Amino acid sequence: MTERKIALITGGSRGIGLACALELAKAGCDIIINDICDAEKAQPALDEIKACGVNSSFYQFDVSNDEQVQAAVDAMIKEHGKIDILLNNAGITKDGLFLRMDMEQWERVIKINLTSAYCVTHAVIKHMSKARQGSIINMSSIVGRHGNAGQANYSASKAGLIGFTQTLAKEFGSRNIRVNAVCPGFIQTAMTAELPNIDEYLKAIPMKRLGTPEDIAKVVKFLALDTEYVTGQAIEVAGGLMI
Ligand code: NAP
Repeated sequence: MTERKIALITGGSRGIGLACALELAKAGCDIIINDICDAEKAQPALDEIKACGVNSSFYQFDVSNDEQVQAAVDAMIKEHGKIDILLNNAGITKDGLFLRMDMEQWERVIKINLTSAYCVTHAVIKHMSKARQGSIINMSSIVGRHGNAGQANYSASKAGLIGFTQTLAKEFGSRNIRVNAVCPGFIQTAMTAELPNIDEYLKAIPMKRLGTPEDIAKVVKFLALDTEYVTGQAIEVAGGLMI
């Protein structure tokens, strides 16, 4: 029997993170989900993952708090012995036109969306490096590539993730660690539930529908498990938006 791969998914208790956790679980990976919410709130996600016949555990921590991250990753390594796949998925928005955007709005989004990738990856990659294998996937966004009015903070954080991805791909390729980014378009989750003018967005999407979390999960699974020679890429999964 081959040893199961272990995947850590941040912000994994709902939305795109949960869909990715389920896709990797169906492919036979054991899953560690993280979230900032408490264990009780994450329990339904954990139950759904375990129903795929794999092991799953939950770690509560704030992805942007370096001390919390380090302690949690140490505990994961003690529990599971390794982490093969890391999906840096947790993220937030705090939108507003730039002239009205205050420093708190700017710093919070950069911290949760970008500094978090430094914290979690820094803690995990040394274990991957020792094992001489790993796959890291950063959840960027189409707006990290093309910008979006009202999202200067969010676009900057997601563009930053692409530079981070390409740099780590160069630094760690020789250690057999691949680093890629996924750039979703408009995906149906809590994050986009409040979007005004959804019809305007639909007009701009050649496929004439919003994406589903499962659309993203299939690409994450491809990058995590199905390819061994793709690295440093930022793949747009957006139904043709922006082409
Ligand atoms: P979501 O439903 O809001 O899920 C985000 C998850 O991240 C939640 O479970 C949230 O926890 C968690 N989280 C937030 N802050 C955290 C922190 N400090 N530490 C740990 N976990 C934290 O959003 P989603 O739509 O699935 O988005 C997932 C990722 O895809 C994000 O990075 C987002 O930027 C990106 N993305 C989404 C879209 C889209 O259209 N939906 C498009 C492009 C990119 P709580 O629920 O407890 O707050």
